[in-house]
Amino acid sequence: MTYDLIIVGGGPSSAFLCYELIKLGSNKKVLIIEQGKRVEERNCPIEKLGQCVKCKPTCCITTGFSGAGAFSDGKLSLYNPEDDDIYVGGNLHKYIGVDKTKELIDYTDKVYLEFGADTKLEGTKNKEEISKIREKAKKADITLINIPIRHLGTEKSHALYCKIQDYLLNNGIEIMFQTTVSDLIIENNEVKGVKVKDSMYVDKDVELRSIYANKVVLAVGRKGANWLSKMCDIYGIATKTGCIDIGIRYELPNSIMREINKLLYEGKFIARLGHFKDKVRTFCQNPSGFVSSEVYDENINLVNGHSYKSKKSENTNLAILVSHNFNYPFDKPIEYGRNIAKNLNALGNGNVIVQRLGDIYRGKRTWNDELQNNSVKPTLKSAVAGDITYALGYRTMTDILEFIRGLDKVIEGFANPDNLLYGPEIKFYCNSVLINQKFETSVMGLYSIGDGGGMTRGLMMASCSGVQLARFLEEDD
Ligand SMILES: Cc1cc2nc3c(=O)[nH]c(=O)nc-3n(C[C@H](O)[C@H](O)[C@H](O)COP(=O)(O)OP(=O)(O)OC[C@H]3O[C@@H](n4cnc5c(N)ncnc54)[C@H](O)[C@@H]3O)c2cc1C
Repeated sequence: MTYDLIIVGGGPSSAFLCYELIKLGSNKKVLIIEQGKRVEERNCPIEKLGQCVKCKPTCCITTGFSGAGAFSDGKLSLYNPEDDDIYVGGNLHKYIGVDKTKELIDYTDKVYLEFGADTKLEGTKNKEEISKIREKAKKADITLINIPIRHLGTEKSHALYCKIQDYLLNNGIEIMFQTTVSDLIIENNEVKGVKVKDSMYVDKDVELRSIYANKVVLAVGRKGANWLSKMCDIYGIATKTGCIDIGIRYELPNSIMREINKLLYEGKFIARLGHFKDKVRTFCQNPSGFVSSEVYDENINLVNGHSYKSKKSENTNLAILVSHNFNYPFDKPIEYGRNIAKNLNALGNGNVIVQRLGDIYRGKRTWNDELQNNSVKPTLKSAVAGDITYALGYRTMTDILEFIRGLDKVIEGFANPDNLLYGPEIKFYCNSVLINQKFETSVMGLYSIGDGGGMTRGLMMASCSGVQLARFLEEDD
């Protein structure tokens, strides 16, 4: 089988790359190879069963058409026209410039609207009240980033990506579902294609099938970051040591977060508090939301969160993430994160762990019966009460506790002892894949877009990176 272009992964970056190729009238023969299922076949049994059953062969939360986007909260982060930098979503602007990135966001946002995104924007009104929160944060050495957000909600994300999937299939894009790319075909530093197997045999040693193309795009997301790192090592694809974001999911009552939820929907706070001065930030805030879990290879169980447009809980959840950089002699951030996750999972008998903030201060684990009587009820029912501090490193834990104390000065009640911490929440990025101005790696014909290679960190930017690559590819032909 021979194609002009193979895309590994069917997440938002890949979907928008194909959308734009169609819009540009491309005559390329394009194949997406996706490990998971079609969007409409993706279901997470946790809602019915109350616990994660580690679906085989792949987790429906992280794999399948639209990748991590299908079950995401669907918050599309935009930008403020007056800002002279891009503060959210990764590093796309470092390759194509701030102005071009803003144009791309406008364009991509319009496409999302065409496919049914909500026209309402969060965080654009009440400027005076928001500026008061910013001032309060500043006094606590915390920066508040306020940008407009378009919130799709989980159920709408699912439906929207379903429409995009159909649009691509109806316009000549081929998608091979439930197929895993296990290897690349690279000769004399030029890509020639990929080697695949049925996802059913993902952990088994079976004969691989070759599919050929002289252009291959790696759009593997965080799910594929570990595989991508291995490919980089085997084929000498140039990378630079990246960072890893390690932390927890924090859950607290809506009543504490009311002002932030109402004015901003998502408060993006960043600080370097305490003696380590590591960058700590809030991420992916879900008002009235639900904490969720997702499974990566080797059954690594991570925590995440999302919210629906219709179904509501009494809690808000958000991630508190610490960025760690390693350089010498250890330069394997993914391995570090996986070891932390494995230890935490082992303590939770394979599950996510939940602990009350007050118990961390009291120096004890949380017990299940204490959780039952706790004023904040966990929305992730499969989480096991335990002790996160056994597995998160001293540095990460100290950073998180300092940050919670700091934010308590901005949001009264943020450090209440009944608030819950879930772990592990880890954002895996491959060691940043080195790409040129046209997103081509050090291997000729091999491109990298989206979260997996470390360029982006979110739906909007991952989608934009796909649109931009389509334009580069058409320009060059
Ligand atoms: C629960 C949850 C909530 C989120 N909420 C938000 C939010 O509100 N706002 C926001 O901006 N971002 C959010 N995100 C993050 C967002 O979903 C990602 O940033 C975005 O999906 C990245 O797009 P991508 O195309 O780079 O990769 P992904 O969406 O991860 O897609 C990669 C695809 O590649 C496939 N793949 C990987 N390796 C292989 C292989 N070897 N062979 C074949 N296929 C492969 C995977 O199956 C996957 O489908 C959330 C994520 C989760 C999990």
